[in-house]
Amino acid sequence: MNKQFDAIMPITPRPEIIFEQGEGSWLYDSQGEKYLDCVQGWAVNTLGHCSPIVTNALTQQAGRLINASPAFYNGPMVECANKLIEHSVFDQVFFANTGSEANEGAIKLARKWGKVHKDGAYKCITFDGAFHGRTLTTMAASGKAAFAPMFEPKTPGFTKVPYNDLGAVAEAIDAETVAIMLEPIQGEAGVIPADPEFINGLRALADEHDLLLVVDEVQTGIARTGSLFAYESYGIEPDIMTLGKGLGGGVPISALLAKASCCVFEAGEQGGTYNGNPLMTAVSLAVLNEVTRPDFLVGVNKRSEYLTQQLMALSEQFGLGNVRGKGLLLAIDTGELESAKIAAECLQKKLLINAPQQHALRFMPALNISYAEIDQAIEIMSEVLSSL
Ligand SMILES: *Cc1c(COP(=O)(O)O)cnc(C)c1O
Repeated sequence: MNKQFDAIMPITPRPEIIFEQGEGSWLYDSQGEKYLDCVQGWAVNTLGHCSPIVTNALTQQAGRLINASPAFYNGPMVECANKLIEHSVFDQVFFANTGSEANEGAIKLARKWGKVHKDGAYKCITFDGAFHGRTLTTMAASGKAAFAPMFEPKTPGFTKVPYNDLGAVAEAIDAETVAIMLEPIQGEAGVIPADPEFINGLRALADEHDLLLVVDEVQTGIARTGSLFAYESYGIEPDIMTLGKGLGGGVPISALLAKASCCVFEAGEQGGTYNGNPLMTAVSLAVLNEVTRPDFLVGVNKRSEYLTQQLMALSEQFGLGNVRGKGLLLAIDTGELESAKIAAECLQKKLLINAPQQHALRFMPALNISYAEIDQAIEIMSEVLSSL
């Protein structure tokens, strides 16, 4: 092991590669090797690596104003919030820095709403397999089995039920329940979409029992699933939504959005030093301007269709499993094969793909990946699968 890596806390097994440059769907390492990237910083680089749209917004804003403090308005903060409101069903935005922080804010907002409107109700129903982040509270909200024994005691107040099981949700509701929180497509669990009847049923349950429906769109939002937000494709209106990842096109920014009726924070209850800073909100605004262009979603859906077809052909050829997901958040089951092994072999052949589950591979390429690049990714996977 290269000694210089000893200075980095080993929170994940990293390959001994140092990436130095990126362009579109390609990453370049310190040896000059070139990698085709279907991970994109974990579905973060909406427009690929170093898109001029992102880089120009960042450099221009860096020369104007970087931080005026969260206690003052700034131009990009206001413009970006209005853009999000204009294109969603929500009324107000709170900016933060990471998905975890936005989700933590959503949980706080739900608890405050429960205090004001529901006799102190505070419990959230969340789901097995869910991933909501890595703060103590968002780990408590998550349903990832490996998290359960870690860092106990975690924040109380989360009731976990099986995903896509409406009956289990109905049974879990009690007088202290204030919210139901879910990912419209569970990402880390291996790209598991919510059934339309399930999400619509949750909306009905929430209405019936006076609960808030919170969607964690940190991974599914910002055109990733072929609509600007995944909730739109289900035809429902959530009360609260969180965004992260793709919102910044690579830079750290997240957001908590809520309907006016839920915007109950009072001064002093929520904040953060970097929240709404003009550097990040300027980038986010540029990303939003791009993904809300009239033809942008059409392009995402065409690429999705093409990649889905290619994955299904691979599945057929090599006896793999199900292909699922929406837009450019797709997964393929690998049958008997260990997905981590396939991902490791792909890395050897300079293709980056992610193995979120033992037998599932996930694809989250740039939303502007070219068809030729999709072909190249499939070609490499095909070589790897032939050799296994
Ligand atoms: C990545 C992710 C998070 C956490 O976001 P961070 O920026 O890593 O804190 C939360 N929810 C979902 C659905 C995610 O995919």
